[in-house]
Amino acid sequence: MRTVAVTGASGSMGKETVKYILSSDKGFFLRMLLLNTPLDRRFARKIKRRYGDRTEIFFGDIRCYDDCLKLTKNADYVLHIAALIPPKADHDEERTRQTNFDGTVNMVNAVIENGKVGTEAKFIHISTVATYGNRDEKHPWGRVGDPLLTSMYDVYGTSKTRGERYVLESPLQNWVILRQSGILYDNMLMNNIKDGLMFHTCWNVPIEWATAKDSGILMRNILEKDVENQTKNFWKRVFNIGDGEKARTTGYETFDDGFKLIGGSVKSFFKPEWNATRNFHCMWYLDSDELEEMFHFRTQGCSDFWSWFQSRHKIYGIARILPPALIKTLAIKPLLRNNNSPKYWQKHGQTGRVFACYGKSMDGVKTWDGLFCERADYEEIKGSGEKYRLDHGYDETKPTSELDIADMKQAAAFRGGQCLTESMTKGDLHSKLQWQCHNGHTFFSSPYTILKAGHWCPECCLPDREWNFDSLAKKIPFYAQIWYDSHDVDENYVYTIENGVPSHREFHD
Ligand SMILES: [Zn+2]
Repeated sequence: MRTVAVTGASGSMGKETVKYILSSDKGFFLRMLLLNTPLDRRFARKIKRRYGDRTEIFFGDIRCYDDCLKLTKNADYVLHIAALIPPKADHDEERTRQTNFDGTVNMVNAVIENGKVGTEAKFIHISTVATYGNRDEKHPWGRVGDPLLTSMYDVYGTSKTRGERYVLESPLQNWVILRQSGILYDNMLMNNIKDGLMFHTCWNVPIEWATAKDSGILMRNILEKDVENQTKNFWKRVFNIGDGEKARTTGYETFDDGFKLIGGSVKSFFKPEWNATRNFHCMWYLDSDELEEMFHFRTQGCSDFWSWFQSRHKIYGIARILPPALIKTLAIKPLLRNNNSPKYWQKHGQTGRVFACYGKSMDGVKTWDGLFCERADYEEIKGSGEKYRLDHGYDETKPTSELDIADMKQAAAFRGGQCLTESMTKGDLHSKLQWQCHNGHTFFSSPYTILKAGHWCPECCLPDREWNFDSLAKKIPFYAQIWYDSHDVDENYVYTIENGVPSHREFHD
């Protein structure tokens, strides 16, 4: 029997993962680390009742190294799903860093300490689409290797980006990073009408959703295929998780589908200027079919999900008898006063946050004209992803086995820097080379991390408390090709956040 250690088992993706792995006839034993909270204790009791001795549960926290050691001892696989996510992450910056970055460091180090080199547990790390930062109708399509330009003040995005880089650069022998998309899950409607987070979603943002169910099936199928030695070309790589063509939509369409269930629409519940026009995340994936081809996990698109959702939550139908204006007043408008809402930031003079999410207009767009999903060429753009492929700065028509030091130098130049190492073993993307950024920082990273995963200088380009992309885009063509979709060249700001206090200042080169 193979032991699978799971973090985040009680979350929306975790629950489905547990369910599907324990439905496998390959005989997996699940060990879970849960938080000692009433909610997690209740989840634990349910799991024990249903699955009994096929599971082992203990309470602790990935922020504690000893808990990670205990969790991963003698494990064959580690599924590191746990993260503090928005909206909670937006309200507790320090705990977000500790959980998403320190927790990942603990998990990786525990696997290394528990294992013998080469036989340690295989590490499946769940990262996020938030690593890429903002996308809109100008470049709705993206893929692994695109620049990582996390949105300003998004500590969730930055802590996850730092976490995945730690995995990428670790001595682990078998790792994989799966960048999870927006998840369609059971309680999403209720959870979304509690916080100002809903106003961060831009109407025009392209989103390729992944349902919680399909994410759980994916986790099971990965383990089953790996046990059967059918995971060639999978380990030591980064992938995007997405439910594909049927799950590609926009922020506007998603809200509209959700509100239809209660007899309303976006236009009846919202004013257009309530939502941000930039500084969000999500995109349509040029490359999410790759995981599907390997693991056949897709069973749902957006409309399948909403039909299932409606049959499961008939209670929402009751809201249909209420006039939309009443729902707007009772359920939506109060959220504008939540301290995670752009309207709250406007009112309270948080100009850094306001500028980050609206740009120069500072007040949003006051008309529904210009909705991406209502454009005449919307369907055409949805069908022509290749047109939007970003340049990664080296010859991608070459097979990986042919990439050599000249390709490294070319890629470094496109990132405004240099590859200082003079030679490499052709095709070896995992031995580290030395690089230098435009600011003179030198660092060792694998070609995979730089060319294939979209990371660059760990000092300039891996934000923690400071976002400096206005300045970086002026020096790094790799960034410029996407940054100016939603920023003007004359924006010269450094955005900082310290102890929950956001600010921004002008920089001078
Ligand atoms: Zn640097």
